Amino acid sequence: MEKFNLDNLVRENIKQLKPYSSARSEYRGNAEVFMDANENSYGSPVVLPSYEREGAGMGLHRYPDPLQWQLKLELSKIKGFPSQNIFIGNGSDEVIDIAFRIFCEPGKDNVIICPPTYGMYKVCANINAVEAREVLLTKDFQLDVEGILSVIDEHTKLLFICSPNNPTGNNFNRMDIELLLNNFHGIVMIDEAYINFSRQKSFLQELTEYENLIVMHTLSKAWGLAGLRLGLGFASELIIDLFNKVKPPYNINQSSQQLGLEALGKLNEVNANIKRTIEQRILLEKELKEFDFIKNIYPSDSNFILAKVQNADKLYQYLLLHRIIVRNRSNEPLCENCIRITVGTPLENETLLKALKNYG
Ligand SMILES: *Cc1c(COP(=O)(O)O)cnc(C)c1O
Repeated sequence: MEKFNLDNLVRENIKQLKPYSSARSEYRGNAEVFMDANENSYGSPVVLPSYEREGAGMGLHRYPDPLQWQLKLELSKIKGFPSQNIFIGNGSDEVIDIAFRIFCEPGKDNVIICPPTYGMYKVCANINAVEAREVLLTKDFQLDVEGILSVIDEHTKLLFICSPNNPTGNNFNRMDIELLLNNFHGIVMIDEAYINFSRQKSFLQELTEYENLIVMHTLSKAWGLAGLRLGLGFASELIIDLFNKVKPPYNINQSSQQLGLEALGKLNEVNANIKRTIEQRILLEKELKEFDFIKNIYPSDSNFILAKVQNADKLYQYLLLHRIIVRNRSNEPLCENCIRITVGTPLENETLLKALKNYG
């Protein structure tokens, strides 16, 4: 494929698209009377706590800010990256889906994924009728760079790299990723959902270097906000503009914007939880290694542990009986008899270990 050219990668219908223009995106300023959006002028039956306290945001009877500028401003301070290079999705899942809809022509284009990895890339490809070319990781769960380069053709639009990878928990070699960034002239999506638990540094710093890079973060893991659905995409302004063009006008609801903003002010608390999680992971890894039915604990740079056991189905069912749910990954390639365990609180980890002591 020739050199990176964003214009050549974007679907024709998206280039031609005249995006929906909402009442709230047309008007910017400080009006007092809002009669433009057919909202309910009499208010909403419920209010957000922060609204009651200090009138911090708009009531729920108003449509939210379509571009979430307040939230982006705070994110920009935390991530050290300009607001106009940030896209906020209704979870990372929306960021992934919109990438497909911008770049991939159904029935014609293809993307590359590297199993075992996060399931949504393939599901999203299937929903959008886009071929997902699968290039398995190597035996030590690293990228098969040669294999990836060999399946690229002129219809390959996206390459998904999840680092630290789910469900294997490890980081990919940085030089492999850089090699792919330099040699693949489609879009490289690096999913860093677990980066806050990792020793690897983020690829955010690399964004000025690579115009074909999109880095994804999420508030669902280290930030403890899976329920709010806030996923982040970082990229060049040209790419972010495309995402804004295609997204639903009010994709981030008002309560998510306000509660997300509140959470961003509690960085110390979040960092303390990250530290506790890593401490507990190390402890749990050590304890799990003691059981003879646990054959291998894979090195983790995340908030979960992948363990190869004697019989994953049996162990999974046993834990279920003790009302403990882990993730059975046995049917994933390279993950035969593997279970994935999310690091719990000290009490939860103790409960798991106690149950395992009676297993056999
Ligand atoms: C959990 C996870 C996410 C987060 O998805 P959200 O939609 O933001 O909750 C993204 N990528 C990977 C690999 C994950 O494991």
